[in-house]
Amino acid sequence: MSAPGTLAGVAWPRIAGQTRREQLLALLQQFAEAERWPAGLLQQHQLRQLALTVAHACRTVPFYQQRFGAAGYRAGDALTPERLRDLPLLTRRDIQDAGAALRSSAIPPQFGAVHENRTSGATGQPVQVTRTALDALIWQANTLRDHRWHRRDPSLKLAAIRALPPGDADPPLGVTAAGWGAASEALGPTGPAALLTLNADVAVQAAWLRRHAPGYLLTYPSNLAALLAHFARAGERLPGLRAVLTVGETVSAALRAACGETLGVGIEDVYSSQELGYIALQCPVSGQYHVMAESVLVEVLDAEGRPCAPGETGRLVISSLHNHATPLIRYELRDHAEVGGPCACGRTLPTLARIAGRSRNMVRLPDGSMHWPMVGFHRFREIAPVRQYQMVQRAPDAIEVRLACDRALGAVEEAQLGEVIRNALGHPFRLDFAYFEGELPRAPNGKFEEFVCAIPAD
Ligand SMILES: [Zn+2]
Repeated sequence: MSAPGTLAGVAWPRIAGQTRREQLLALLQQFAEAERWPAGLLQQHQLRQLALTVAHACRTVPFYQQRFGAAGYRAGDALTPERLRDLPLLTRRDIQDAGAALRSSAIPPQFGAVHENRTSGATGQPVQVTRTALDALIWQANTLRDHRWHRRDPSLKLAAIRALPPGDADPPLGVTAAGWGAASEALGPTGPAALLTLNADVAVQAAWLRRHAPGYLLTYPSNLAALLAHFARAGERLPGLRAVLTVGETVSAALRAACGETLGVGIEDVYSSQELGYIALQCPVSGQYHVMAESVLVEVLDAEGRPCAPGETGRLVISSLHNHATPLIRYELRDHAEVGGPCACGRTLPTLARIAGRSRNMVRLPDGSMHWPMVGFHRFREIAPVRQYQMVQRAPDAIEVRLACDRALGAVEEAQLGEVIRNALGHPFRLDFAYFEGELPRAPNGKFEEFVCAIPAD
């Protein structure tokens, strides 16, 4: 990546500079300008860059050669919004089935070293995607942009509680590091960091946080919810904490409110995926999510494949502008989001008002229709001492209800809970109750989903 000012295959943003530091500064400078461009100009640049990736895919990726050829697209064709919508969608299933056929036979050497990225897949359907050093460079630039937007003080301590392999940061001590990590330290030194595995008991996590007294806490929303409940019960705060940074799951309005109430700080959320990198950052002014338009082109589509208008919720279809190793073009992520409106901050990057969640978190009724489940949790504790719940839909008419309770429930309590749940879900499902001591188990990647539809999709 040393060509001065240009890199074959990259029209935008420009990769300039000899050192990584110079390249990152050049990218940040371009981000600061592009994020205030008129929307039309931004989209024009996105399509110009995506056309290069699509052409590369048509020429060197067997999967796309076949598929885009059948759709009438030829390498080198210009890309318009309409032309883009004619290209077939790429599903998670396609990625799994295509295997090596989705990988470029001629990854441009100027894109740098190639690395495999295997997603953990909360539903046990991992996908394998190859990325290059260029993707990693843009990932780092977006990390730095996130810090800048939120005016984070890099001299403070960062404490992170995340899913880690056993032995990496075990309780009760976890591990410490001199800095926040390669991306955050790329432009200068940071304060220290401390890392603890998510498997630690919540009381152990809380004691560890009090000991480290971090300026920033990074964790998953579901783990934050458990920590907030603990701190609220204990009547404690974390003096010195400036903000909680969340990743990996959707953040509810209730969680934001609880965080402000219990810890006196806000949540700064990031929407990303392992395959695509950063997708959107929460705006420091409005709380909406701004799309990282210099690296991904995001479409929000309704059931008929038409673009959703502001205020409408649809499925996310995302194209990676630069991945020349495993091109991801019109990748249907199975997440849903609400299209946002113009932002008070003055940034013109496209907005998402809300990340609604994943298709697998929707309940499916026997007639095939799907909706976001309401389960009536606010009423559970009027009936029985339920601490935590999770529901897994096993069949069109049956749902397993997993409960972590202070004690086993009686038949009357179960029947009353069942009535609340069936009413809230809007269908007389058969409910199978299962009881757990302590915390409910998480997926191997550390994520916790309150409602999972486990009926195989497509
Ligand atoms: Zn904004």
